Amino acid sequence: MSQPSYPSVVPVGVDTSRASIARVYDAALHGKDNFEIDREVLAQVRTVAPGVAELAWANRDFLIRACRFLAGQAGITQYLDLGSGLPTSENTHQVVQRIIPDARVVYVDNDPMVLAHARVLLEENRQTSIVESDIFQPLEVLGNRTVRVELDFSRPLALFQVGTLHHYLGADAAALMSTYIDALPSGSYVAIAHFFDPEVDEYSELARKMEDKFVHSPMGCGLFRTRAEIQALFGDLEMVEPGLVLCDDWWPDGPRLGPLSAVRHCIAGGVGRKR
Ligand code: SAM
Repeated sequence: MSQPSYPSVVPVGVDTSRASIARVYDAALHGKDNFEIDREVLAQVRTVAPGVAELAWANRDFLIRACRFLAGQAGITQYLDLGSGLPTSENTHQVVQRIIPDARVVYVDNDPMVLAHARVLLEENRQTSIVESDIFQPLEVLGNRTVRVELDFSRPLALFQVGTLHHYLGADAAALMSTYIDALPSGSYVAIAHFFDPEVDEYSELARKMEDKFVHSPMGCGLFRTRAEIQALFGDLEMVEPGLVLCDDWWPDGPRLGPLSAVRHCIAGGVGRKR
């Protein structure tokens, strides 16, 4: 796969004239590690979707529930978390190591602020590592020395692309994922959460308007793919019940007290298992 030059694969580095995916996400989650240019992205999307920050919350809550499922029920002891994000309330290693204390976690990201934070946070956690790499270059990630040393690819592992692939603008996202899936041993799991165009009048227009704002913002990316397009990212994995659904509908923690907001109809997630 040749190296394209999408905004998400060219790290922002210290260029403060560009918004960073990780910092925009942090701003949506009410974090402190973001700049004016990042908040500007949200402000632009807010003109068409006042509740845009809920995309981030629905995504993050899905990630935490998927971690609990994979560690608690599937008994997975190894995690490859692609696009780890800035540390917020609870990170993958905190959730899974509470259930399986010696679970191994490797985070991969390309944002300098994420890498710096993670190195500090993980200083005393020997089972958790952070790798600087481009998550849209699967062969680079899979060949990384730390990934290979920390994770045993002869035993089942969980791979996360949570809140990441909608930043990949290429038409070959499914091929990219199949390279990852091919490298996983049988019994492994893949969790994906993705901006979603539900293809119903009520919400599709909202999804397309948000996409237009994200793509033309200083962040430059954020695609709302359809069900068929997101399902294709799982290849022929066997979907864990309830399949690919709105993130809020994937094993919610309790009964819903009110209807979902419109924005929450525009992010979907699922977990697949390799036979
Ligand atoms: N997975 C986390 C979660 O669900 O809470 C964070 C999601 S955040 C929206 C996306 C993360 O992917 C950011 O930390 C960003 O830096 C990272 N990212 C985006 N494109 C990347 C790339 N090409 N290579 C590595 N990391 C990337």
